[in-house]
Amino acid sequence: MVVFNRGMSADVPVIALRTQVVLPRTLENVDVGRPKSKRALEEAQAGDQRVLLLVQRDPKVDDPTPEDLYEVGTLCHIKQVIRLPDDTLQVLVEGRERAAVESFEFEPTLRASVRIIQEIGSGSDATIKGEGGDLLADQVKSAFSDYVQQNKHLRLDSFHLENLKGLREAGPLADVITKYATWEVADKQAILEEADVQRRLERVLGLLGRDLERFDTEKQISARVKQQMDANQREYYLREQMKAIQKELGADEASEAADLRERLEKKAPPEAVRDRALKEIDRLERMASGSPEATVVRTYLDVILELPWNERDEELLDIGHTRRVLDDDHHALEEPKARIVEFLAVKQLTRQRGVGDGRSPILCLVGPPGVGKTSLGKSIARSMNRSFVRMSLGGVRDEAEIRGHRRTYIGSLPGRILQGMKTAGTVNPIFLLDEIDKMTSDFRGDPSSALLEVLDPEQNDTFTDHYLELPYDLRNVMFITTANSLHGIPKPLLDRMEVIQIAGYTVAEKLEIAKRYRVPLQVHDHGLEGLLTVAEESLRRVVTEYTREAGVRELDRLIAKLARKEAKAYLDAPWERPREVDPDRARELLGVPPFSEPATEKQPQIGLAHGLAWTSVGGVTLDIEAVALPGKGKLSLTGQLGEVMKESAQAAIAYVRKNAETFGLPLDFLEKHDLHVHALEGAVPKDGPSAGIAIASAVVSALTGRPLRGDIAMTGEITLRGRVLAIGGV
Ligand code: ADP
Repeated sequence: MVVFNRGMSADVPVIALRTQVVLPRTLENVDVGRPKSKRALEEAQAGDQRVLLLVQRDPKVDDPTPEDLYEVGTLCHIKQVIRLPDDTLQVLVEGRERAAVESFEFEPTLRASVRIIQEIGSGSDATIKGEGGDLLADQVKSAFSDYVQQNKHLRLDSFHLENLKGLREAGPLADVITKYATWEVADKQAILEEADVQRRLERVLGLLGRDLERFDTEKQISARVKQQMDANQREYYLREQMKAIQKELGADEASEAADLRERLEKKAPPEAVRDRALKEIDRLERMASGSPEATVVRTYLDVILELPWNERDEELLDIGHTRRVLDDDHHALEEPKARIVEFLAVKQLTRQRGVGDGRSPILCLVGPPGVGKTSLGKSIARSMNRSFVRMSLGGVRDEAEIRGHRRTYIGSLPGRILQGMKTAGTVNPIFLLDEIDKMTSDFRGDPSSALLEVLDPEQNDTFTDHYLELPYDLRNVMFITTANSLHGIPKPLLDRMEVIQIAGYTVAEKLEIAKRYRVPLQVHDHGLEGLLTVAEESLRRVVTEYTREAGVRELDRLIAKLARKEAKAYLDAPWERPREVDPDRARELLGVPPFSEPATEKQPQIGLAHGLAWTSVGGVTLDIEAVALPGKGKLSLTGQLGEVMKESAQAAIAYVRKNAETFGLPLDFLEKHDLHVHALEGAVPKDGPSAGIAIASAVVSALTGRPLRGDIAMTGEITLRGRVLAIGGV
């Protein structure tokens, strides 16, 4: 065996390694497979067992030329060669010295002439101090033991670690650590190339420090990831537990949710609604079933599931049929019926010819109570084969009644519109909004603006109820509104409606309605069919002496009263042949008539004029009395007169003063008299200018002492110059 002195050069075979840096003073197993390397190995074995191990710059190169190899390598001693089954040779080598290549020789094998690199500051110098004054070697050792602990890819048994701790020399310490460390080839090669032992050790410390920092960040990241995972896991776990618990409690909740989901699928509401409902079902599943919150969610889901989303009636648009139905159900009302049919005719025609958007305009039936507005609406629905809902707006003064309360309120519910839709059960009902002139608004918001949205075909396809919080399509609904008078209807609403006025019935019409519709119906409803008829004269009395109304509601009630009393009488003493209610019997059953034929002051009277007024029950006479008393020219107006009426009275009196001479009155009559004008039925509020002429006449009569005819009535506003204006509303 030839021993080399340090600094000597030598000529040795070279084995190129792809990724393995073998360091001096370490034992290493090296696999040799490439033919060139095998030949070099053979040469070395034949010679002094020495071989130079060089690392490739690029591991992928198969037949490296000198340019592909680092120029510094390790001179090694071959200890043992084992041939593996696949013909590779496993070579155990011991690293000896660092060596720099001076020149290469290619053929027949790769050889190099090398110079041994002397270690600078070598020897047993363990006293090198690092930063902070500690021994550098100690710092490196402690850093390395941290490194070993934290590096998941490094398995180092305690034996090796102890050995390493025993190392006192800086150079070997750096080399051995580099052997174990899981560094890149370039890093390890840099350590190999460092001849200065102190610098080499510092470099090792630097690399260890870098890695420790990396581990730290990795740890932080993985801690965060873990936290996240833990949270997910926790939730999953809890959910599973809950399911198990629910199962234990009886599959109630589970089946409730499943049931709700199934109902929802069947309902097939629009996407947005479905998503929302599913979310709520999920929420419900997570709640304790008895909790108040669950009840709230359940109610909400019920509302969604009960509302019609797709259900619709097959509409029948045939005006001939509608006309027949309207005629069957209602006597008289020629004008309104014709208007309704015209209205539907337009709808039918635009539908047939494919013009227009098929939206329903809004009908407004205006007239006193009991003239058949509601029942006309019902007939329209029946004739068109659509369902019918009715909702009264009388006294509604809160927007929330139309649009619902937000769900945050306990016991909140959807507004009346959606309630109505629920009742209808279809998306295209006839929706009757009763008494829209009786809505009022207060601080809680204006219901008429909400209603405007309902009725506006531009926006009612996305009507939002505060409770539902989802748009609901009202486009297919046909709205019909009713009112007693046009006065109370908010202007913007009125603009959108097609108004049909129903005036009220004459006595003859009322009689006919009673005879043909109400009597047969009440007789039937009271189980008296074939047992009872009502004489025409009795009905006439009922109409004229017992009722005072424009419609037939009270009349109907009285007919029902007759039927009821006769039903009782029949049970007390049954009769066989149909019995007729004659006028005497009617009086017996109904009592004293409240409005017996007015025997009112038909005789000429002084200071009494008959005015005319329009009320919710139709036209009435309104008597005006005037008296002149000795006094100082004071004027009193009594009988609940409104502002307009008072002003009109003053205008009338001014006119009388102006024309005093014409009436044969002394010019100073008013200075010497107090004047009192009173409108009768003093408890009923009255307003409007039309009493002017009646007041003027009463005053003149009172002052002149000339009687006024009792069999005529008058109406109309009087101007200061004595013109009587035409009256409105007839
Ligand atoms: P409104 O809605 O105008 O207050 P309703 O529609 O409730 O009045 O009418 C009251 C009752 O009178 C109903 O039973 C209705 O059928 C009946 N009625 C009203 N007008 C007629 C008519 N022209 N022919 C037959 N019945 C009528």
